[in-house]
Amino acid sequence: MAFTTDGYKRKICYYYDGDVGNYYYGQGHPMKPHRIRMTHNLLLNYGLYRKMEIYRPHKSSPEEMTKYHSDDYIKFLQQIRPGNTTDFNKEMQRFNVGEDCPVFDGLFEFCRISSGGSVAGAVKLNKQQADIAINWAGGLHHAKKSEASGFCYVNDIVLGILELLKYHQRVLYIDIDIHHGDGVEEAFYTTDRVMTVSFHKYGEYFPGTGDLRDIGAGKGKYYSLNFPLRDGIDDESYSMIFKPVITKVMEMYQPQAVVLQCGADSLSGDRLGCFNLSLKGHAQCVEFVKKFNLPVLLLGGGGYTIRNVARCWAYETSIALDCDIPNELPYNDYFEYFGPDFKLHIQPSNMQNQNTSDYLEKIKTRLFENLRMMPHAPGVQMQPIVDDGAPDDTEDTEDNEAKTADQRISIRASDKRVANENEYSDSEDEGEGGRRNNGTPRKKMRAGSPSDRMVIDEDCTTTAAAAATATAATAKNGAAEPPAAAEKEAETKTTKEEAVKNGDHEEPKVAAEVS
Ligand SMILES: [Zn+2]
Repeated sequence: MAFTTDGYKRKICYYYDGDVGNYYYGQGHPMKPHRIRMTHNLLLNYGLYRKMEIYRPHKSSPEEMTKYHSDDYIKFLQQIRPGNTTDFNKEMQRFNVGEDCPVFDGLFEFCRISSGGSVAGAVKLNKQQADIAINWAGGLHHAKKSEASGFCYVNDIVLGILELLKYHQRVLYIDIDIHHGDGVEEAFYTTDRVMTVSFHKYGEYFPGTGDLRDIGAGKGKYYSLNFPLRDGIDDESYSMIFKPVITKVMEMYQPQAVVLQCGADSLSGDRLGCFNLSLKGHAQCVEFVKKFNLPVLLLGGGGYTIRNVARCWAYETSIALDCDIPNELPYNDYFEYFGPDFKLHIQPSNMQNQNTSDYLEKIKTRLFENLRMMPHAPGVQMQPIVDDGAPDDTEDTEDNEAKTADQRISIRASDKRVANENEYSDSEDEGEGGRRNNGTPRKKMRAGSPSDRMVIDEDCTTTAAAAATATAATAKNGAAEPPAAAEKEAETKTTKEEAVKNGDHEEPKVAAEVS
């Protein structure tokens, strides 16, 4: 239980699977799940485990994933592996797997872990057993219903929001990744039960969507908000737009729960990004959202200069906990990554901020005009939640298909540097001006073999699209929480060793699955 400056007590639940850092997208690929392990290790060494409950989440089942994704897409993700890609040429094209989104060892297990944490966090919030739930392995906002995109395969955010919608009338999604939160926007484009707000670089940049004029459609008109930004935005400018926009959204929409995607590629010096935020500038968004005292699901996302990703999410964990942590980094397993200064905070660069005050004010004014068009706090008739764990029988309206990105563009195309061919060097992860490989031996970061691949459930027939599920308040309490056995794990969190172990023990036998 964290005690806050405002006297409000918050309980924080944190989801982490000790295996997540082993998954490896491939040589030279900027997305490195290892950053999640670095984050975890750093925050453990800051002692933050003492103030929160640490869970290893259940792994999402295919049935849970098909609450949003199409059956054939999820079936494909289960089957595909590096050794059989030649048998799936057609499917790989169709599902956009191969380039930005490669086939790697344990791909589906990785998706299960990422989604499992976000859904478990949502369930925890629904049960009012946490005020803030954290899953840094989540936030994979580009994944589409039947398509991988931008390093994302399964959209844990959509699945988490669908879970929150079982208990909450209105859910606000906020995205501070440098890239547009297109997958989440698309899923909820036609419903007023989810408002999506994305701040992102716009203009010749992946994924190409997120225009100011994209405001939602049908019942969802005015419930999508996009703030397009130019290169080099700094802390002060970001604060100048984020706070008033979110304040207005809170006032008009009155959400009952918030999902905050904390993509760290909006930080200064990111390998793929071009913003100029410090950790403080980034984390002020977390701090600001927290002040509204709503249930918050805090998720990761992008972030490609991995030493800074670990810094950022460890720091944001401390913000969630209302706990001051020193700028001097504690010794940790990946200490050599953080040289030469070994400090927590990072300095913004002297790059030009191409977002003038005039530009930002103009966009803000336009967005406020849209917000005024929104009816105050729309409501639908909530129906009693019955049959926990029953299959979802809501209709699939396919409304969310109405808006799709025009064409695929590569997220890796914005990779600013030539990847180091030495895959074991952490300098592969570093952006320009970053630290150089100091010769310290690196840990090998290969994925383990995917040993417990799931058997496909042929009875899997639940294909409810997110928009449909969201509109009909009859959603059943399908996905679930690790059972009591898993919850007990939180009680073994009092020592650091145990906290580490906590992220490493066996998955509960009766994993939460839709029955
Ligand atoms: Zn991103």
